[in-house]
Amino acid sequence: MARKKFIAGNWKMNTTADEAAALAKAVAEAVGKVTDVDVAVCPPYVNLPAVAEAIKGSNVKLGAQDLHWEEKGAFTGKISAAMLKSVGVTCVIIGHSEQRQYFGETDETVNKKTKAALAAGLLPIVCVGETLEERESGKMDAVIDRQTRGAFNGISAAEAAKCVVAYEPVWAIGTGKTATSQQANEAHIFIRNILTELFGKDTAGGIRIQYGGSMKPDNAKELLAQSDVDGGLIGGAALKAADFAGIVQPK
Ligand code: PEP
Repeated sequence: MARKKFIAGNWKMNTTADEAAALAKAVAEAVGKVTDVDVAVCPPYVNLPAVAEAIKGSNVKLGAQDLHWEEKGAFTGKISAAMLKSVGVTCVIIGHSEQRQYFGETDETVNKKTKAALAAGLLPIVCVGETLEERESGKMDAVIDRQTRGAFNGISAAEAAKCVVAYEPVWAIGTGKTATSQQANEAHIFIRNILTELFGKDTAGGIRIQYGGSMKPDNAKELLAQSDVDGGLIGGAALKAADFAGIVQPK
């Protein structure tokens, strides 16, 4: 099944409002007219309005880096799906390994956030991936299996079809170590097989699985050429418009 590639930039905790607007403008100038690849940028919450303004009229979509699963109420510091939608967000990263590692994200909260995003009509980008220790001790498959089934627990095939999965081996994030294209593709096929068990072949065949972990212009082409690598979730290289553009349209 043909799946449109999807490249999303995760800016993490980088950029002031002015820097975010300038970066977003540069991204829109570089890849704002691209139609054969979906492109999104995910700035920090406070910079969403500045970035929304900067990418207006381009094909670049606005994403967020997290959300809370409740609709509103006494949850100091948290941001709801409706709030994100109200400033033009269309997709949201959920379960990033940094959230899991530093901020107590669990498979259960990933699941709640995925349901909240879907209920609001946001496209969830659900992150899964093993640590180096898990890979080296042979637990990789079990970890990815648990994270994937956990994220999609209680979600229908029709809803799953509106999700994206990002396979992000933790040992490759921000380390300069990239999974080989073969390692990445094997993990993606493993995830797609789980999705096939859960939702059937047709639905699973349509779900895009991004790769994330030190993806750069010089390794993007080979990674993106793999049968089951349907795009990228980009950290460091998303902070330079030229590098990000070099991943969206690798040479
Ligand atoms: C990420 O954090 O989602 C990521 C893939 O980071 P980097 O590209 O810097 O490895």
